[in-house]
Amino acid sequence: MNATANHDTIAAIATAAGAAGVGVVRVSGPGVPAIAQALLGRPPTPRHAHFAAFRGADGELIDRGLLLYFPAPHSYTGEHVLELQGHGSVVLLDALLRRVCALGARLARPGEFTERAFLNGKLDLAQAEAVADLVAARSQAAARAALHSMEGVFSRRVLDLLQRLIDLRVHVEAAIDFPEEEIDFLADPAIARKLQALRDGHAALLQEAERGVRLSDGLRVVIVGRPNAGKSSLLNALAGRDRAIVTSIAGTTRDVLRETVWLDGIALELADTAGLRDTEDEVEREGVRRAHGELAMADVALLVTEQAHHAEDLALLTSLPPDVTRVVVVNKIDRDGGLPATGTMDAIQTLWLSARTGLGVDALREVLKRLAGQTGGEGAFSARRRHVDALRRVGNLLAQAAHALAALRAGELAAEELRQAQHVLGEITGTYTSDDLLGAIFGSFCIGK
Ligand code: GDP
Repeated sequence: MNATANHDTIAAIATAAGAAGVGVVRVSGPGVPAIAQALLGRPPTPRHAHFAAFRGADGELIDRGLLLYFPAPHSYTGEHVLELQGHGSVVLLDALLRRVCALGARLARPGEFTERAFLNGKLDLAQAEAVADLVAARSQAAARAALHSMEGVFSRRVLDLLQRLIDLRVHVEAAIDFPEEEIDFLADPAIARKLQALRDGHAALLQEAERGVRLSDGLRVVIVGRPNAGKSSLLNALAGRDRAIVTSIAGTTRDVLRETVWLDGIALELADTAGLRDTEDEVEREGVRRAHGELAMADVALLVTEQAHHAEDLALLTSLPPDVTRVVVVNKIDRDGGLPATGTMDAIQTLWLSARTGLGVDALREVLKRLAGQTGGEGAFSARRRHVDALRRVGNLLAQAAHALAALRAGELAAEELRQAQHVLGEITGTYTSDDLLGAIFGSFCIGK
C-alpha cells in the first residue's frame, strides 16, 4: 500500500508549551516535501534538525526554530511528516500554522494524525487508543500502563489469543469437513484441553484488561455510612495535601454525590447514606433511587462505621449490587486507644483506623491502590471499556463453544461460536471495525494528536 495515497495534507499545533517552552506545528501528507522546501529554501535532509527562519509569503519573519522532516513511511503517521519547532507562543504558532495552510495543508481534525497512523498500519486500534489514554493519564501508573499498551503489550496478548483460537478453529473446521470422523474428533480430549487452555488464557487477559480500565479511568470509590461515622473526615485524611483539589459538586441536599477527591488517579466520591434509607417522601424516594444508581456504577463501596455489626450498616451492605467490592472501615479507634489493623469481618475486608489522627489511613490508601491495580507489576497495560466488553463477549462465545462440543457434540455449532469469537477479538485491535467506531474513537482525541 502506498502510505501517502488518497490523502491530503493536514496540519495542527501539536504542542504549545507556553511562553518559555517550545511549541510544535505538525504536518502530515503528500504535500510535506513542497511545504518543507518552501519554508527552508531548499530540500530538507531527512531526519535532520535544520535551524530555519520561518517566513510568511511576504518574506517577513514569523519565527525561528527547528525544522524536522520524516519521509514516508518512517514517520508517526506513515506519511511524509514535518515538525516545526518554534517558540511556545500560541500567537506565533498560529501564524506558522496559517502559513503552512497557505502552502497547501488543511487543519487536522482531532485525532487525525493517529487515525492516519492506524489506517497506514503503524499502530493497531488498541495502540491508537492508548495514545489518547497516555495524553489523558492522571497518574504515573496510568501513564506507564498507557505507554505499555501503546507499545503493543496488550495487543500482543490479544493477538496471541487470536492465534490460538485460529489454531483451534482449524481443527474443528477440519472435523466438519470430514463428517464421518466427526464423532471421533469431538470425543478427542486434546480438543477439549485446547479449548480449556484457551478459556484460561482468555480469563487471565480479561482480568488484566479490567484492571487496565481501572488504571486509565480510575477506581470509583463511594464512601457510605451513617451520619457522623466520619465519612468527610476520612475523605480529608485520604486526600491529605491534595485536599486543595477537592471539588464540590453542586446539587440538592438529596443528591448523593457531594465531592470528589483524586488520590493518585483514583476518584473517591463521598456519598451520604441518609439518601439510601427507606422513605415515604416522594422527593426523598427519588434521592434514594439516584443514590442506588450511583452505587451501582461504583467499583468499591467503602462503608465507614463507628461500630462493627450495626444492623443498619449490614442492611446497606447487603443491598449493594453483587459486583461492587465492599470494604468496611471501623473508624475512631483513637477514642479507646485501639491500634490500627486490617482483617476481615463476615468475609469482608475490614480496616480499623482513625480518620482524626490518621492512624491506619495509609493501610487504606494501599488497599485502594491495590484495588485500582496501581501496585500491579511491571507489565500492567491500559485498556478501555470497549475492550473489556469485547473480551466478555468472547468469553460467552467460548463457553458456548465448549458446551456445544462437550454436551451437544455439535461440531457445526462450536465452529460457528469460535468463528464469532475470532471476529469479536479482531474488533479490539481493529482488524474488523466500522466507520462509526473509528469516528467515535478518534473524535475523542485532542487536535494535533
Ligand atoms: P460524616 O457525617 O460521616 O461525614 O462524619 P464527619 O466526618 O463529619 O465526622 C463526624 C464527627 O466525628 C466529627 O465531630 C468528627 O470530628 C468526628 N470524627 C471523625 N473521625 C474521627 C476519629 O477518627 N476519631 C474521633 N475521635 N472522632 C472522629
